[in-house]
Amino acid sequence: MDLIVAGNRDDLAKARGTGTVALVPTMGALHDGHRSLIRAARARADQVVVSIFVNPLQFAPNEDFSRYPRTFDADLEVCRAEGADVVFAPSAVDMYRPDRQVSVCSGEMGTIVEGASRPGHFDGVLTVVLKLFNLVHPDLAIFGQKDAQQLAVIRRMVADLDLPIEIVGAPTVREPDGLALSSRNRYLSAGERTVALALSRALRAGAAELTPSAIRATARAVLDAAGPELDLDYLALVDPATFKEVGDSYAGSAVLAVAARVGTTRLIDNVVLSLRP
Ligand code: AMP
Repeated sequence: MDLIVAGNRDDLAKARGTGTVALVPTMGALHDGHRSLIRAARARADQVVVSIFVNPLQFAPNEDFSRYPRTFDADLEVCRAEGADVVFAPSAVDMYRPDRQVSVCSGEMGTIVEGASRPGHFDGVLTVVLKLFNLVHPDLAIFGQKDAQQLAVIRRMVADLDLPIEIVGAPTVREPDGLALSSRNRYLSAGERTVALALSRALRAGAAELTPSAIRATARAVLDAAGPELDLDYLALVDPATFKEVGDSYAGSAVLAVAARVGTTRLIDNVVLSLRP
C-alpha cells in the first residue's frame, strides 16, 4: 500500500487501520537513526505511523527552531523506503489551539541535566508526545536512546499518567567513526565535525573505567583535550530512571551523558553502562 500523508488530524483519523499501531515521533530531517526506529516499528506492529513535526514548544527563544533543517520530500522517501504506512505532518496551527492553556509538567526530572540547560524543554516534549499519543492511539511508540533523558521522562509520563502505551527504546545509530547521527550534524563544518568526535571518544573512554569517579575523570580528560573549540555544557553519570547523579557505591545501569557546543551547534550523546558493586 502506498504511503498516506496526513497533514492534519482529520486526515490522520481517516488513515486509522484496524490492527496494532506503532508510532515513531520525529522532527524530520530523517537520517539512518530515524530509519532504524521505523524498522523497529515495522517489525512490531501492523500499522506504522511516523510523525514529522518541529515542535515549537520544546525550543527556547534563543534556540534553533527557525533554522532547524526541514527536508520534507526526502523524509517522505525515507518513510516510504522503510515501509511506513502513514506520515502525520501537522502544522503548528493544527497542533496548538491559539488559546491553549494546559500542558504537561515533566517534574524534577525535567529540570536537571539536559533540563537544566534547556528550561521548559521537557515540558514541551511531553506535551507534544501526549498529544501525538491521543491523536494516533498507538499501541507502542519507539524513541531513540540517543535522547536518553527524553526517553526516561516519556517512560515516567506513561507510568505516572497510566498511559496504555508500550515505550520501546532503540539503540543509538552512529557514523563509522563514532559520531552519533543527528539532524544537527549537518550544521557542522568539516573542522567542527572532527572536534565533535571528542564526545563519543570521551564516552568510550569513560565506559572503559570501573568506578563512577574514574568514569567521570577519564571522560572529562578527553573532552578537555579537545581544546577550546569544544564548549562543554555538562558531563553527567546518572541513574537512567531518575537522571540523578550516581555515587561511588552505586551498582546497576547508569547513563554517561554529555552535551557540548561545537561552533554554534549543540550536540548531545550518551552511553549506557553497567556498574558493579
Ligand atoms: P528527532 O527528530 O531528533 O526529534 O528524533 C526523533 C527520534 O529519533 C527520537 O526518538 C530520537 O531519540 C531518535 N534518534 C535521533 N537520533 C538518533 C540516532 N542517532 N540513533 C537512534 N535514534 C535516534
